[in-house]
Amino acid sequence: MRFDFATAARIVFARGAIADLPKLAREFGSRALLVTGRNAERAVPVLAALEGGGIHCRVFSVYGEPTVEMVRRGAQAAREGRDVVIGFGGGSAIDGAKAIAAMATNPGEPLDYLEVIGKGRTIERNSLPFIAVPTTAGTGAEATRNAVIGSPEHGVKASLRSPLMLAKIALIDPDLTRDVPPHVTASTGLDTLTQLIEPYVSVRANAMTDLFCVEGLKRVAASLERVFEDGRDMDARESMSFASLLSGLALANAGLGSVHGFASPLGGMLEAPHGALCAAVLPHATAVNIRALRARDYHSKALRRYEEIACILTGESDAMPDDGAEWIAMLCKKLAIPNLRHYGLYQEQIPELVAKAARASSMKANPLPLTTEELSEIAERAL
Ligand SMILES: [Zn+2]
Repeated sequence: MRFDFATAARIVFARGAIADLPKLAREFGSRALLVTGRNAERAVPVLAALEGGGIHCRVFSVYGEPTVEMVRRGAQAAREGRDVVIGFGGGSAIDGAKAIAAMATNPGEPLDYLEVIGKGRTIERNSLPFIAVPTTAGTGAEATRNAVIGSPEHGVKASLRSPLMLAKIALIDPDLTRDVPPHVTASTGLDTLTQLIEPYVSVRANAMTDLFCVEGLKRVAASLERVFEDGRDMDARESMSFASLLSGLALANAGLGSVHGFASPLGGMLEAPHGALCAAVLPHATAVNIRALRARDYHSKALRRYEEIACILTGESDAMPDDGAEWIAMLCKKLAIPNLRHYGLYQEQIPELVAKAARASSMKANPLPLTTEELSEIAERAL
């Protein structure tokens, strides 16, 4: 057995835990940069509570997914005397805050450190203390060490990544997800599902991350459809918040796979939420991976794992790997997940998409290397 596991220094999980934020933030000082999503209105009560608790806040809004330019501006704001960076919102706000906290203390600019499109320099200095407060149950970004940043000029997204970027505190309050609308519940929840399947079959899967994947898969199977149908079902909301955290713990320490390999370039090519892109690709990537494993690596651990995943998702003890892929396809239908054409992908763009996906960092953890034909088939089927 061998693993190297790192996560947030402290994880606080409870319904109503948001009330503790001012006290927790005080541990790091009295001047915060509060990074919110597009809808800064949602953060107004939190802002009032922080100010009431003696934390002076400067608010910085991340519009849509964070870009190199936003991180540059946010880091500048943080450098002006801020003690702590608080990310409050969905994956974009959390990733934006995480990147801002890192760039506030490291010299140079985001492109110096970005993977794939930048210089990929190593982040050497500790981030400003960073607190992650997710308001969706989806990306698990509160527990990960990377921030996905878009570069409109390159038409692609890439990660800033370092163990030094891990949150000092991940504060997860499922009550914050109560009013998330059904389509966002669907796409973020399917991102969670993807992030539990991919680390479980990853070439970097380990005994520690396996625990989180199995528990998370059970919770998604039992709760995602419920919470899509009734957003006020707080038991199901709580379960999805926990599953999302587990997915972050797993992916940060075991990697992802072909679905995120596609989601990365797709996110740069299309205007679409990350979770919806993962969801559109997931059933097809699962089916193609299973077929490729059967043909080229029949005795692999990954193939047995696809069988276990199928058993957990369907609740049938004799399920076959393909039953899992079918269960996922059915779930995507019930959750009204559109295909990629809906987001504006054209047939003619598939070769470009496949070439970019093949180079994506997530692809390296896929259970086996896929051929260009197989990658094209996944993209065609997801179209
Ligand atoms: Zn994801």
